Amino acid sequence: MASFFYTTESTESINPNIRCCPLLLELLLAIRTEIMEEIHNMEQSFIKLQTIYGFASQLSFFMLCEQLLNKPSNSNQKVEKNIVVALSTTLFYSVFGYFVTRVREICQGSRTRTRPRSPSYLNYLKWICRIAVEWAKAIIIVLCLRDQGIHYEPQLPYTIVTFTYYLMTEKVFIEMFPLFIENFNINKLENLEHLYIPFFMNVTVIVAGVFVALCSLYSNYSNFIFVNVYFMVYLRVKDAYHNYWEVLMAEREAYSSFQVASPKEIQEWNDICAVCLNSMSNARITPCNHLFHPYCLKQCMKQSFLCPLCKQHFLDVVTHEK
Ligand SMILES: [Zn+2]
Ligand SMILES: [Zn+2]
Repeated sequence: MASFFYTTESTESINPNIRCCPLLLELLLAIRTEIMEEIHNMEQSFIKLQTIYGFASQLSFFMLCEQLLNKPSNSNQKVEKNIVVALSTTLFYSVFGYFVTRVREICQGSRTRTRPRSPSYLNYLKWICRIAVEWAKAIIIVLCLRDQGIHYEPQLPYTIVTFTYYLMTEKVFIEMFPLFIENFNINKLENLEHLYIPFFMNVTVIVAGVFVALCSLYSNYSNFIFVNVYFMVYLRVKDAYHNYWEVLMAEREAYSSFQVASPKEIQEWNDICAVCLNSMSNARITPCNHLFHPYCLKQCMKQSFLCPLCKQHFLDVVTHEK
C-alpha cells in the first residue's frame, strides 16, 4: 500500500497529459504490432494458397506487360482491355500448366510400384477431355473478345516474357525445376536444390516485377500499379525471404554440423543406412552420432529436422553443444 501511495503521489505532481501520453503510445504500439502480426499471418496464408497467389502475380505482371509490349490497337487503350487480355493469357497458359501436371502425375504413377490402383484408360480419356475443354474455353473467350472489338493478338516479345514469368511462378514448375536440376548433381547447391532453385526463381521474378513496374511508372501507366506491385514484388519478397531464405539458412546451419565420416568411422559403424537400407561407402555423421548417406540425410531434412533413427531434433543438439 505504501508503495502504491508513493507512486500515485509522485506521478500526481506530473502533468496528467504527459503521464497519459506514454500509456497511449504504448497502447497504440501494441495495437499496431498486433495488427501487423495479423496481416503477416494472413499474407502467409495467402502465399500458401500457391495457385491463387501465383495467379494474382501473373495477372498483375501480364497487365503491365500488355501495356508495355503489345502495340495498342488504339491510342486510348482502356484498363479493362488490359485485364481481359491478361486474363486470356493466363487462361491459355493454365491449360498448358494443367497438361504438364497431368503428364507428371502419369509419370509418377508409373514410377511408384506401390500405387494402390494404376490409372485406367478411362482416366486418361477424362484428362484428355478436360484438356480439350480447357482449350475450347480459352478459344471461345478469345472469339467473344473479338466480337466485342478486342483483338487478342499477343506480340512475340510479350509471349516470351509472360510465358517465362508463368513458368517461374506456377506451382507445378516450381516443384519440377529443382528435381530437374538435381540430375546435374551440382555440388555448390549442396543437395538443397528444393530451396535454392525456388529462391532464385523468386528473385528473378521480383527483379522482373520491379523492372516492369518502373517502366510502367515511366510511361505514365499508373492504374492499379500499387495493387500490381503488392502482388508482383511485396508478396514475392516475403515468400522468398520467409519460406525459402530462412529455411535455407537453417538447413545449411544444421547440415554444416554434420561431419563427413572417414572410411574408418564407416567401418566401425558396420551398419546399413537406416533410410535406404543400403551399405555405405560415404556418409555423414549427425550431431546425435548416427551415420547416413549424405543424399538420404538431405532427403529426410526436406521433411523435418528430426534424426531418422533417434528422432532427436538436429538444431536442438547443435545448440546444446554450443
Ligand atoms: Zn541411404
Ligand atoms: Zn540420431
